[in-house]
Amino acid sequence: MDLSQNHCIYCERTSNEVPLISVEFKNQKIRICSQHLPILIHDPAQLIGKLSGAEGLEPADHKD
Ligand SMILES: [Zn+2]
Repeated sequence: MDLSQNHCIYCERTSNEVPLISVEFKNQKIRICSQHLPILIHDPAQLIGKLSGAEGLEPADHKD
């Protein structure tokens, strides 16, 4: 069991501290906390270097 997977990819807090959401991406299971989930949705460029493949993600269109 790899405990290094068991924290938010952005802030590295664990589920002992924040609610974590499991996401599957490129056949890897990642965790992101509820606070940083919007980054994955709207500004994935901030995850480059933290999440392999993030450079290929496009932000969800949320112009309104
Ligand atoms: Zn986080």
